[in-house]
Parts: sequence; structure tokens; C-alpha cells
Amino acid sequence: MPNPTRHVLPRLLAVIAMGLALLVPSVAGAVSVQRLQGKPFAITLDCRAPAPADAQQVRIEAPPEGWPAWGQSVLVLDAPPGLVTFRRGDEARCGLSFDARSTDARLRSGVGTQFSAAPGSREAIIVTAPSNRWLGWAMTLRYGDPAAVQREDTLRFAIRVGGFAILAAMLLSSLLLFANVRDRASLVFAATIAAYALWIGLRTGLAAWPRPWIDSPAAVQFAILTLLPMALAGVWSVALTHSKVDRVFPKLAVTHRLAGGLAVAAIVAWFVWPAGRELVYPALRGIAAAMLLVLLPLLVLALHRGSRNALAVLIALLPPLVVVGPFYDGLLRPWRGEALLLSGAWFAITMTVAMSQRIGALRQQRDRMRALAERDALTGLPNRRALAEVLPRLIDEARAQARPLAVVFVDLDHFKAINDRHGHAVGDEVLVEAARRLADRLRGGEMAARHGGEEFVLLLPGADGQRAMAAAQRLRAALADTPFGTTVGPLSVTASFGVANLEPGAARRASSPAELLARADAAMYRAKQAGRNRVAGSEPA
Ligand code: GH3
Ligand code: MG
Ligand code: MG
Repeated sequence: MPNPTRHVLPRLLAVIAMGLALLVPSVAGAVSVQRLQGKPFAITLDCRAPAPADAQQVRIEAPPEGWPAWGQSVLVLDAPPGLVTFRRGDEARCGLSFDARSTDARLRSGVGTQFSAAPGSREAIIVTAPSNRWLGWAMTLRYGDPAAVQREDTLRFAIRVGGFAILAAMLLSSLLLFANVRDRASLVFAATIAAYALWIGLRTGLAAWPRPWIDSPAAVQFAILTLLPMALAGVWSVALTHSKVDRVFPKLAVTHRLAGGLAVAAIVAWFVWPAGRELVYPALRGIAAAMLLVLLPLLVLALHRGSRNALAVLIALLPPLVVVGPFYDGLLRPWRGEALLLSGAWFAITMTVAMSQRIGALRQQRDRMRALAERDALTGLPNRRALAEVLPRLIDEARAQARPLAVVFVDLDHFKAINDRHGHAVGDEVLVEAARRLADRLRGGEMAARHGGEEFVLLLPGADGQRAMAAAQRLRAALADTPFGTTVGPLSVTASFGVANLEPGAARRASSPAELLARADAAMYRAKQAGRNRVAGSEPA
């Protein structure tokens, strides 16, 4: 007899073992003391060296009553990659905007330092940073009481870590989606998130924390200038593909390549035309604006035509648009690194949800197609293909649960005569009505399938020989006792039934799907020979 607990036992043991492992007492009570060692500090910075001619310089004037007695913190955000120096009177400090080791350890989100107390002194703090001519943004300076500057710095850092965590999660999720369904769009989406996360990381300086991973200002510049067109190209492609705008307007398909070309062009231009670096950012702004001017009306149009995907893309794009829009140089100015990061995270989240919904919809469609392929078009019953899928499963279940299973073969009597006398269409009506009468009288878990022609197969899980015979008799009467209403008037229709049983413990060989069906068919044939309109059981195998 099959033993259903066979598979459960090892799993149960594994769970118990895990539970026991959790109970093993941990070593408690001892104080943990560890020494951490960093790499030797190899950078030597000359904070008093004269600034390059094209450096930008900002003077922070002392308040009228002079600097207070508790020192001053200064934090430079969005500085171009390179050396940032701070000077007040004789005091000079400096740090690399792309190297966390050289900045003040108390500040996390930019290049910062702290000046000692100089009560009453009126000397301005002078901040010098590399030229920002090639960048599309100006730097932001935050200064004041150390506690206030540090509090804001910590908040900023927390927002950034959260934003990157979201981007990392969405990147992983889109890669998993790709691994799952091999959908090219999800791979492009993953690349887009990766490019954007890298870009915003370098642009906000988090790339330098806790230790730098790109060591030269030129390399950082290169990455900042080339990652953005990659991310933009990705956003364009994802937005077009997902909203299906490029299917409504097939000519737009070309722009996928144009967008990709833009990213390549930015990389090539960096090497062949150094003087043009200053043009990259303004050019990108123009191109991005043009893209949006084209995309937005198309999305609205697609939305108007009822595309839910277009709505999803609009919802995903709106926060980034607001961020780079009118508030970029105004309200958002001190927080725009964070705003860019969070709106990018929003885009990633909403598009991830939308893309997985699309995949879900594809799956549903596939399931519907499969369901259609497994139904008989005339009677609506499961067809022979469905039968071939279900029967082996029911046999396995019956064996595992040590329950009986019955298979009943049904063949309408002298059906050819009905066709011959009244025409094929009336024959069809009879088939539909017979299928309905059979299916209506089944119980939950039982199934009626059209095996072909005027033959049906019934599967009765849980029915032993006696119950199956009784069910077959009931169904036989359901056909024979009431004439079939057809367009040519009531017709008397009968059928012959053959029952085969799978008894618990039957030899495996004697209970294959083909063998069971053959036994039921043979029994049906005996019912025919015995005079039709009757039920015959099969000899036990
Ligand atoms: P028996 O009692 O021995 O089963 O006789 P029978 O006439 O029912 O058996 P036979 O196999 O000779 O004929 C079956 C007929 O069913 C032949 C075929 O034309 C008809 N048939 C098969 N599929 C369809 C269908 O979809 N619609 C209609 N109207 N007829 C069908
Ligand atoms: Mg037949
Ligand atoms: Mg027949």
C-alpha cells in the first residue's frame, strides 16, 4: 500500500532540527571588544596650494556680531569631483569630493569640515571648489551651528541610504523577473536602474562612502557624463515599450535606437572631443526636454484610448518630472540630490509593479489560451487532451490516498442513424444536450470529457465498483428516460456505459491511464452487445 506520509517525514525532521538549532544557547554576557584596522592613509593634500584659475570660490561672511563661541560646520554638496578647500584666516582644511577618507569624519553627505570656536572674529570662510562649467548644476553650501549641520547631514544620509536600498531592491527584482520570463524589457529596465543608481551615487558623493571606489576626478567626470545618457535612453525605452506607445505609433520604434545611440555618442564624444564636455549636460537637458515633449502627449493620447499601461508610465514619470521641472533651481535646490534619488526610486518602484503586472497579464492570457485548447468547441466539455492530462493525476492521487477511482466510457447508441435521418446539425444538438445531462449530474471533483465523436468519458474519484455502477445507471436513465428536445421535435436517445475501477492496491501495471480506458471501453462494448442502453462493469484486472 502506498504510504502518503513518506514525503512528509524528512521535511518534518528538518523543521524540528532547525527549531532545535535555534534553542542552542548563545554565549551571553561577555563584552565584545574588537580592533578594526583601516588601510594606511596614502593621500597627501596641500590645503594651502593656490586654487586653479578656473576654480569657483564662495565667501561666507561672518554675522555682524562675529562668529559664535561654539565653532562652525561647513558642508559642500554637489561639488564637482576634485579638491574642495576651506579657509578662515590661518585655518585651512580640504578634502576630495570623491574621496571619503579626506573629508571630515563627522559629515556623511558631502565635503565638510568644522572650524574651531573664534568668538567675535569676523573673518570670512572661503570655500574653493573645482570648476563646475561642465556640470549642469551649481553646488550647495550649508553652514552654521555644528549640531544643526550634522543633524541635517544625518537626515540627508538616511534618505540617501533608503533611496539606494529601494533602487537595489528594484534592480534585483527586475533581474529576477528577467531570469523568470526572459523578457527583454525587464533587462533594459534593470540596466536603466543600475545606470541611474550609479549616476546619482556619483553625483551626490555617496560613491565615496564609506570608501571611494573611483580614484580620479577625471574618471568620476567621465562616469557622471556618460551614465546619465544611458539612464535617459533606458527610461525612454522602458516608457515606450511598457506604454505600448511604440506599437500605436510604429515609427517611434526607431527612437529606441536613437536613444541608445545617444548614450554611445556621449561616451565617444568624451574621448574624441574634450572641449565638448561642457556641452554634454546642456545638450542632454535639451534632448531630455524634447523626449518628454514628444512622449507626454503620446502617453496622454494612449491613456485616452484606454491603455492602463500608459497610465502606469505617466504615474511613474510624474515625480521625476516635477523634480527636474520648475522647482529644480528653487524650492528643491538644497535637497535636489535627495529629490532626484527619491523620484528615481519612485520610478523604479512603480515601473517594477507595472512590469510584473504586465507579466501577470501575459500569464493569464496564456492560461486562457490553454483553457481554450483543452475545451471541446461543440459541447464545452474538457476534450481528450484535457482528459489525458487529468487522468494520470487522478490515478496518482488515488494511489497516494489509497482511495478508489472509476472511469466510465459512454457511447451514444445508433447515433449515426440520428445524423442520417435528421442531419448533422440535429446530431450536434443531441451531442450538446447529452453532454449537458451528463455534466449536470456529476458531483464536485468528478469530470466529464468528450473523448471524440459521440463518446464521452467520466472520471469518478473516490467511487468504488458499486458506487460507479450506480452512478452509471443514474446517468443512463438521465439520457434514456426523457426525450431530447431538438429542432425536429423530441428524440429518444440512449447510450451504453462501460465502467472500469481502480481498486486501492491494484498492481501498477494494471492501472495505467491507457489500461483503465481500454477496460472501460471493452465494458462499454459488452453493453452494446448485450443490447445497448445498459451499463456493464469490467472484469477486475
Ligand atoms: P453504436 O450504437 O454502435 O455506437 O452506433 P453509432 O451509430 O453510434 O456508432 P458509429 O461509430 O457507427 O457512428 C458514430 C457517428 O457519430 C459517426 C459520425 O458521423 C458521428 N459523429 C462524430 N462526431 C460528430 C459530431 O461532432 N457531430 C455530429 N453530428 N456527428 C458526429
Ligand atoms: Mg462510437
Ligand atoms: Mg455510438
